[in-house]
Parts: sequence; structure tokens; C-alpha cells
Amino acid sequence: MIVILFGAPGVGKGTQAQILADNLGIAHLSTGDAFREAIRGKTEVGLLAKHYVDGGHLVPDDVTARVVEEAMANPTYSKGVILDGFPRTQNQAQALETMLAKSGKVIHMVINLDVENDIIVQRLLARGRADDTEEIINNRLSVYQQETAPLIKHFMDLGLLVHINGIGTITDVSDRILSAVISKG
Ligand code: AMP
Repeated sequence: MIVILFGAPGVGKGTQAQILADNLGIAHLSTGDAFREAIRGKTEVGLLAKHYVDGGHLVPDDVTARVVEEAMANPTYSKGVILDGFPRTQNQAQALETMLAKSGKVIHMVINLDVENDIIVQRLLARGRADDTEEIINNRLSVYQQETAPLIKHFMDLGLLVHINGIGTITDVSDRILSAVISKG
């Protein structure tokens, strides 16, 4: 089963993707985590991605799609994957659809976590990651609006989008997500 956790930075995608992955017994793939790990390990991808991640900009689509394709070739993901933070652009969505078509897989559903902007900013500032300063948060939110938010319509047109209220406790939100996944079958 392939499920995409979608939403602005700070809506809780990472936390919820991990909980959903545990509940469904499938793996979770976060492109943000993959880039941070590559940066720590100073790999070729890491050296390339650092400048973008540090500034709150998107890593180029070809690099990102390659990271996802290589990761998904791993047997860890043979039963499915909860994608967290990918796709983030029209090109990435296209790359994902092409990648899945090659292996006869389809996207099961796209969960859009809805949280208002002022709550997002509070959450990110409280988290305090290196790219969670006010200036970089603003960059990330505007990149989200320009590049990523248009995908909502794309996934809605494909009949894959489910909106989930992302406000409440972690358990409130994970219960809502799980019910949505179960009711979709
Ligand atoms: P995240 O952990 O999802 O908030 O991602 C942290 C950072 O990693 C982003 O601000 C981007 O610089 C980079 N990143 C993560 N996912 C992607 C993606 N799908 N496309 C491009 N850059 C990404």
C-alpha cells in the first residue's frame, strides 16, 4: 500500500507518518530525513542537498526523485510505503507516478493534514530544528504555497485526496488518519 502524507511544513507529517507506518506494518520514507542523514554522512547527495535544506529551499527534482527511487528499490519497501514530504512538486509527482507504473503499483491515498498557518509557525519554532528559524520557516512556507500546494488539486482530480484535521493531540490526529485509511479499504 502506498500512502502519501501531504501538508505544509510543521503540520505533523513526520510524526503521523511513523504512527501510520507502525499501525499498518509498512515502512515510512521521509525525504527530509533522507537528506539530513546524507548531509550528516557527507555523501554526494548530502553535499548537493545541504545548501537547499539549510536555506529552506527545495532540493532539485532530479536529485530528490533519484533518492526516492533508490530507497524504494530496497526490500524494506516491498510491502508498501508511507511517503512523508514527497512529492513536493508537479515534476516529482510525475516522477513518482512513472516510477510506480514501472512496478505495477498505484497510490492508495493522499492524506492532506490541515493546520492553520499561525499554529504551524508556533509548532516549528517550538521544534527548533536547524532549519526552524523564523526566516527559513517563512521560506519553507512560501515554497510550500508556490510549488507544493498546487498538488492538492492534482491529487483531488485523481480522486486520491482525503482531508484530515491536523489540530488536536497526536492521538486525536492519528485516530482520524487511521479511520480514513480503514474506511477507504
Ligand atoms: P522536511 O523534513 O520534510 O521538512 O524537509 C526538510 C528539507 O528537506 C526541506 O526544506 C527541503 O530542503 C528538503 N526536502 C525534503 N523533501 C523534499 C522534496 N520532496 N523535494 C525537495 N526538497 C525536499
